[in-house]
Amino acid sequence: MPGDDEARQVRAFWERLGAPGLVDVHTHFMPERVLRKVWAYFDSAGPLTGTEWPIVYREEEDRRVELLREFGVLRFTSMVYPHKPGMAEWLNAWAADFAARVEGCLRTATLFPEEGVERYVAEAVDGGARVFKAHVQVGAYDPNDPLLDGAWGLLAGAGVPIVIHCGSGPAPGKHTGPGPVARLLARHPRLRLVVAHMGMPEYADFLNLAERYEEVRLDTTMAFTDFSERLAPFPPAERPRLADLGDRILLGSDFPNIPYGYLHQLQALQRLGMGDDWLRAVCHDNGARLFSQ
Ligand SMILES: [Zn+2]
Repeated sequence: MPGDDEARQVRAFWERLGAPGLVDVHTHFMPERVLRKVWAYFDSAGPLTGTEWPIVYREEEDRRVELLREFGVLRFTSMVYPHKPGMAEWLNAWAADFAARVEGCLRTATLFPEEGVERYVAEAVDGGARVFKAHVQVGAYDPNDPLLDGAWGLLAGAGVPIVIHCGSGPAPGKHTGPGPVARLLARHPRLRLVVAHMGMPEYADFLNLAERYEEVRLDTTMAFTDFSERLAPFPPAERPRLADLGDRILLGSDFPNIPYGYLHQLQALQRLGMGDDWLRAVCHDNGARLFSQ
């Protein structure tokens, strides 16, 4: 668990790389009562995944933002996601307000297969949304649902990145795994998908998709940590592909909903032994470039 000088150690990590700070593409800020429910879910995750999930950063919102600033996270997101119809537009309004009042937060939006989705996605993009979140497991929908087709087309055309939780970890869903995403990309090859959690546990399949589609990226969220290596280890044989895709891997953390300190995610990347140029690209440059466009 993190100690008093965690912030100093996180800063020392990126300072050593000569980076101006971190860009974290996968952080969760959401309406308070939704966040409480998410935390309650993780509190009950023991029985669900067979592993305890004690959330380290169970703090008030102001303090959570302050922590990211202390870590030197220059840009971050407010990953919101609906589990039922009629919720996405409300979450998008909340996230727009959050990004307006919290410096450094990229305005985030989400979507769900429902009537009106193309309209509210267009409104979010026109309003300045910089990144979307899609959660195939929690939302329990097929990303190829015809209701979403217009929205995907719009996002592909606008080049707005979509962080998509589509791997089957920590628990599989009806539509998780590489198959549905492969079909989606076949129809929308320019879609700027950021595969969350490196596609855990189907790492190799999602690396295949990133190699095939040049706009596909992966985020590191929880991957390579002690926690995930116990549940779904990254295959050592796939490591050389991480180097080849070094300009399309983005730091993600899942802050604040993580069962270990923020520093551990960074150390987990460092111990891959990919070198400082790779680390700097992943932890800052790739994200900074993606969101400067
Ligand atoms: Zn997440």
